[in-house]
Order: sequence, then structure tokens, then C-alpha cells
Amino acid sequence: MENLSNMKEKIAIFWFRRDLRLEDNVGLFHALNAKNKVYPIFIFDTEILSKLPKNDARVAFIHASIQKMQAQLEANFGASIALFNDTPSNVFKQLVLKYNVEAVFTNHDYEPYARERDAQIAAILKENNIAFKTYKDHVIFEKDEILKKDGQPYKVYTPYMRLWKETFRKQEFKEFDSAQLLHNIAKDNPYPNVSLSDIGFKKPTQSVKNYTVSSTLIKEYEETRNYPAQDATSRLGPHLRFGTVSIRKMVKKAIADANETFWQELIWREFFMQILWHFPHTNKRAFKEKYDRIEWRNNEEEFTLWCKGETGYPLVDAGMRQLNETGFMHNRIRMLVGSFLCKHLLIDWRWGEAYFAEKLHDYEMASNVGNWQWVAGSGVDASPYFRIFNPTTQIKKFDKDLHYIRTWVKDFDELTYPKEMVDHKEARARCLDVYKEAVS
Ligand code: FAD
Repeated sequence: MENLSNMKEKIAIFWFRRDLRLEDNVGLFHALNAKNKVYPIFIFDTEILSKLPKNDARVAFIHASIQKMQAQLEANFGASIALFNDTPSNVFKQLVLKYNVEAVFTNHDYEPYARERDAQIAAILKENNIAFKTYKDHVIFEKDEILKKDGQPYKVYTPYMRLWKETFRKQEFKEFDSAQLLHNIAKDNPYPNVSLSDIGFKKPTQSVKNYTVSSTLIKEYEETRNYPAQDATSRLGPHLRFGTVSIRKMVKKAIADANETFWQELIWREFFMQILWHFPHTNKRAFKEKYDRIEWRNNEEEFTLWCKGETGYPLVDAGMRQLNETGFMHNRIRMLVGSFLCKHLLIDWRWGEAYFAEKLHDYEMASNVGNWQWVAGSGVDASPYFRIFNPTTQIKKFDKDLHYIRTWVKDFDELTYPKEMVDHKEARARCLDVYKEAVS
């Protein structure tokens, strides 16, 4: 391609990633506030998409969220987002030849793959004397912002949460009014819009649920959040993951409705993000090294029964079937099915983590790995290995009227419903032996 960059008007690029919204978007705000016209782009990264099933509901959700922004930009400003279906490095190599780019703006992404990708893009831009300006948008506090007095990252949640709140209360609460500056978006985007099928995907059978953050839900969260049949949680997961809502707005809401528990859940999300940032290897290896000595049984047939929700333990089966059918599982039940997999079946937490990663609409590497390691006992601030949920008594605590079970396990009352695949007492004793051997 001919290099026209010196002859052309200087422009800025804003690269959307996990921040698919036009309002209160920090990087977009800074791009629009600078002096050049802004070309917004989104890349359907073929490195990521090639590994996903073709009817993945998350890809459809991303696509739909972008279309929402397209419609808004088109209607109000005659502008649009340039969409690409390629690797980010190919796209940037093409863009720096085509345009006279002064700066690329984007928001931070903390996952190991994203860090590598961004280092590659930074190098391409540097070679071309283009500034790469990146911002914190996805969290309230990131990286090194909440550290212990000795400068080390927190590995225990409660003191992290306390300092998080203390620091938050001391700072000025800012929102970034990017929506007011959208007239600075370039109107001559030459790239056509793309459909789901243009990127090789089809309409999924599932869809990402909308979120609810009504004052009633938040105020009652403490009493209702543990009961899966009530479906009384916010469903914010995918929206925070893909940035269709702003975390600043959600924290503000939690504070306005005075619910510390809900607020603290949002802080758990950031706790695990800083853990993955400081210890990126923990997406593959146990945080507490000796837990990698556990001799997992890793029986594939048993794993299949667990995946299908045919363990014969109805609360476990209800959770797995809810996940398979809807892409969501209630937190209480995630803890139970996770514990059952690692402890009753002695199957490596990484197998469960990978299965959730494929199925959950709210899949977020930091939270998934962090919670799986918590369940397995190998993580930071983890549940001790001898804490083994009893899958039967959990029913009395959290689903005593069997509403949740009957919703998801349609054959619960049938003779064909499977028998318990392991005896609880025996499995518990076996787990304690194996874990003790590895970690003591
Ligand atoms: P709400 O209860 O309404 O909470 C609001 C928000 O707070 C959530 O959307 C989430 O962003 C955050 N949050 C709540 N609990 C946690 C938690 N324990 N850890 C981190 N953040 C939390 N959450 C994910 O977002 N992605 C995952 O991939 C994920 N995998 C998990 C795997 C296991 C084994 C377990 C036990 C939990 C996992 N969680 C994960 C945490 C939690 O189950 C979900 O965040 C929650 O169930 C999502 O429902 P909600 O959006 O209605 O949450």
C-alpha cells in the first residue's frame, strides 16, 4: 500500500476492547478531548475468535453491543466505528500506512494475552512514532494502586477491601463525560459495517441477559443473594466484562443504595484482577505451589457426567444444567459444583475452569481462575482444603423447597434420574487423604 501518511490530516484512533459503551468511557473521553479527529475502531480478533464455537453467545453480544453504538453514532453524528476481522497487529500495520495517525487511545486490559498483544501494538506504533495512550477504565483501582505497607500486593481479601474503601473515600469521585464529545468523531469511516456472519458466527441459541440494578435488588441483596431459586442477583457479570456498563456508575449505585455487601462483591472482582495482574502465571498454576502436587484422579467419564449434570446430586446437577442451558449459574451453586469436581471427584480445577470459560456468559479470566482456585483450596485467601461442601445438606440451606432443583432437573422425580455417582462420605475421606498427602 502507498504511504500517504505524511500528506494527510493528523488523526487519533480510539480502540474499543472491554469498554463497549459511548458514555463514561475514560479512553474515549481523552481521545475526544485531544486536538485531532477520532477514528473509533473495534477488532474481532481472529486469534481469540478462532477458538470459540460458532454460535458463541458472547460474540453475538459483543456484535450487538457494537451495533447499538453504531446506530447511535449514525443517527446523531453520521459517524460509525470501523470494524475489522483480523489480528490486531495486521490491523494496525494497515492503519498506520493508510492514515497519518498521531496517537492511539485505548483502555487497559489486564489479562496475560492482552498484555502481550498490547506490547506488540506498542512496538508497531513506536516504530512509526505514534503515541500509545492507555487508561484505567475497567476498574476503580488497578495494578499497584492498592498495596500493603511493605509495597507487596494483598493476598487476603478483607484488608485489601478495607484499604480499597478507605482510598476510594479519600478520592474525588469522577465520571468521564465522553458522550458529550461525540461530535469529534470522524464522519468519513471508509470501512463497511459487518454482520455476525461476516465474521464467521451465527445467531446463538442463548442470549446474554440484561442486568438489573434496581434499588430494591441492591437493598435486598444481602437477604436474597444466597438463594438460587430467587434469581435475585444483578446479572452484571457480562456487562462489566465487556464494558457495556461503567464500573464507576455501578459503585456509585451500590453506595447510594447503601449496600456494603453488593459493593464488596464488586471489590472481589478487583481483588482477583490485581491478583492476576501481579501473578499472571496463576491462570495455569496453583497460587500455593504445593497444591500442584495433588494427584488428581482426572477420570474423563466422571468429568463428562459432571459437565452434563448427571452426578445424581440434584443441586450439583441443577447448577450444571442451568449453565449448559443458559450460560449462567448462581454463585452459591458455582461454589458447590466446583467443590464437588475438585474434592468429591478429585478432578483438576483447571478442567472445571476451562469448562466454565467455554460456557459462562460472564466468563472473566481473573474471576474464574481466582474463584476456581478458591474452591480447590490452592488460591489466595482460599477455602481450606478440609472444607468440603456436603451436596445434600446444601439443599436444606439454599433450596429447601426444591424450586431451583425442579426448575433445572426435570427428571428429578423420575426413576431414570441417575444414582449418586460417588458416596459422599467415601469421597470426602478420599479427598482428605489425597490433599493431605500433597500439601502437608
Ligand atoms: P452479583 O451477585 O449481582 O454481583 C455483582 C458483581 O460483582 C458480579 O457481576 C461480579 O462482577 C462481581 N462478583 C460477585 N461475586 C464475585 C466473586 N466471587 N468474584 C469476583 N467477582 C464477583 N464471576 C465472573 O464475573 N466471571 C467468572 O468467570 C466467574 N467464575 C466463577 C467461578 C466459580 C467457580 C465461582 C465460585 C465464582 C465465579 N464467579 C465469576 C463469581 C460469581 O459467581 C459471579 O460473579 C456472579 O455469580 C455473577 O452473577 P451476577 O452478575 O448476578 O452477580
